[in-house]
Amino acid sequence: MVQKMNVESFNLDHTKVKAPYVRLAGVIQGKNGDIIHKYDIRLKQPNKEHMEMPALHSLEHLLAENVRNHLDHVVDLSPMGCQTGFYLAVINHDNYDEILAALEKTLQDVLNATEVPACNEVQCGWAASHSLEGAQELARELLTKKDEWKEIFVD
Ligand SMILES: [Zn+2]
Repeated sequence: MVQKMNVESFNLDHTKVKAPYVRLAGVIQGKNGDIIHKYDIRLKQPNKEHMEMPALHSLEHLLAENVRNHLDHVVDLSPMGCQTGFYLAVINHDNYDEILAALEKTLQDVLNATEVPACNEVQCGWAASHSLEGAQELARELLTKKDEWKEIFVD
């Protein structure tokens, strides 16, 4: 890439990755020594596939709510605008395998869910745009390919 961009993922060649994967996308240290690790959790192959909005939205609610039961130090979990994945940011936690283990447990929670948390007009900005079944389909697909999560780039 010719010009180095400010956003880490803008420097990532999206044609060279192989979804699904979980990639460490950045490490930032604060002045008091606290460290934030940001992960790129990619479900769909960039520019080939994407998640449909209602399914993505419900998966976001389910992941964001449940991941905090399995992992201390979660700062944020939020979707990518390209609808191919999510970002997970954690503070003062640097164990990649524990991140994968927490993700696996969280996806199991999604499969076991009977409703989408906070999908109402008080707690959400687009409460009509949800699909529990769609979210569960995405979670099932990602779990099925668990062996591939550590393989980020095409050979
Ligand atoms: Zn919402």
